[in-house]
Amino acid sequence: MKSICLFCGSNKGAKPEYVAAAERFGRTLAEQGIALVYGGGNVGLMGVAADAALAAGGRVIGVIPEFLQAKEVGHKGLSELHVTQTMHQRKALMAELSDGFIALPGGFGTFDELFEILTWAQLSVHSKPVGLLDSAGFYQPLYAMIKHAVAEGFVPTGNLNLFSVDADLDALLDSMRRYQPQPVPKWLDLADT
Ligand code: AMP
Repeated sequence: MKSICLFCGSNKGAKPEYVAAAERFGRTLAEQGIALVYGGGNVGLMGVAADAALAAGGRVIGVIPEFLQAKEVGHKGLSELHVTQTMHQRKALMAELSDGFIALPGGFGTFDELFEILTWAQLSVHSKPVGLLDSAGFYQPLYAMIKHAVAEGFVPTGNLNLFSVDADLDALLDSMRRYQPQPVPKWLDLADT
């Protein structure tokens, strides 16, 4: 993986572990020569991760829609900055520029980006690895919800393999490097016939 896209909070969250995880994330990518692709903001965990990667000599590529940049939440010191017209163009470009995706803790924006990229994976629109960095157990309730959707017949069990969950960044990166896409039929009714 030469580049990883980060989805994470534009707030720092309630626990110091979240900030520490974002710092470690940025530093680790820089140390491993992996470019960090992200939403281009200077706020919250996004800004923390970008600053940590830049401070460690890493390459950071921001992709921000014009209206967010105009609100002055855009980071000014990135290696590369792409300004798009719309949020949709931004997500498409972030996906195109990245070899994998990792979500750190975040809110609606983070969930939107994560679930869009998982949706594209289950439809084989891309075959790139996706990881959830489970800092301070943040993603356990969401993971439980996804398993509930599997149990209730809305997500094929095999699609739990579309992403990895780990609290440890090195272990998460290892499992993403080993990722082998195994397409499973999305439509459970059709799979039965
Ligand atoms: P949230 O999790 O709701 O804080 O939203 C964070 C995600 O949405 C990030 O991964 C960004 O791509 C996008 N986003 C939300 N707010 C901003 C912002 N102020 N600047 C840049 N991107 C943002």
